[in-house]
Amino acid sequence: MAHTPTSHSPSGLTRPPWRASVLTLFPEAFPGPLGVSLAGQALDAGLWSLKLLQIRDFGIGRHRAVDDTPAGGGAGMVMRADVLASAIDAARQDDADLPLLYMSPRGNPLTQERARSLSAGPGVMVLAGRFEGIDERLIAGRGLTEVSIGDYVLSGGEIAAMVLLDACVRLIPGVLGASASLVHESFEDGLLEYPQYTKPRDWEGRPTPEVLLSGDHAKIAAWRRSEAVRITRERRPDLISSKENG
Ligand code: SAM
Repeated sequence: MAHTPTSHSPSGLTRPPWRASVLTLFPEAFPGPLGVSLAGQALDAGLWSLKLLQIRDFGIGRHRAVDDTPAGGGAGMVMRADVLASAIDAARQDDADLPLLYMSPRGNPLTQERARSLSAGPGVMVLAGRFEGIDERLIAGRGLTEVSIGDYVLSGGEIAAMVLLDACVRLIPGVLGASASLVHESFEDGLLEYPQYTKPRDWEGRPTPEVLLSGDHAKIAAWRRSEAVRITRERRPDLISSKENG
């Protein structure tokens, strides 16, 4: 199953489309929010592609079982290594060059740096887990890299995969267009973003900071930088110390 671009490949592409291949029990959840706005337009324009593989097609027996009870007992079900390996091997026939990721609360946290590095590559193959997760042996057996989107537990990997894909897709050259600049975004320079304002100039007795209306670009840049540092120190001092140590 593939979500192919509805329009022809745009001319003037400087690189082949970035490829996303998702292995899931719920392919119908995709593209979901990735099908609208900038990511959706980029998908239609062929800047990236989305392939979906239904894990159940590789299930065992008449009922296409994909999971079984945990060895050693306990609650819930575990996705079988043999079923998932068959699904991965099939998906890899076309996309052997893609890094293979498993969305998992145990993984290394998804960061802007990781999203940037993945988006600079050919694409990603992502396994979305369900139930209690996957048989541990698959991780070494197929060389999966575990990636977490945060310290909480979701009911499945689909939303986590969408988060990862969205973070990567918006960094593909041409996706955001000329209107948006990535340079000053949160995390791009190790800081959170400075506060943004627009019209009206005064809203409910809250004025826009005078410096932003001054037209003095050097002063504005200095104010934004000091606000970014202040907010980062207040909310995420860990980002400042990792910058100082890095
Ligand atoms: N039993 C697992 C544990 O405690 O680590 C949680 C399994 S969770 C209910 C089912 C699936 O959701 C996982 O296999 C994973 O694919 C996905 N998932 C849940 N939380 C996630 C997170 N924070 N980041 C990435 N994926 C997550």
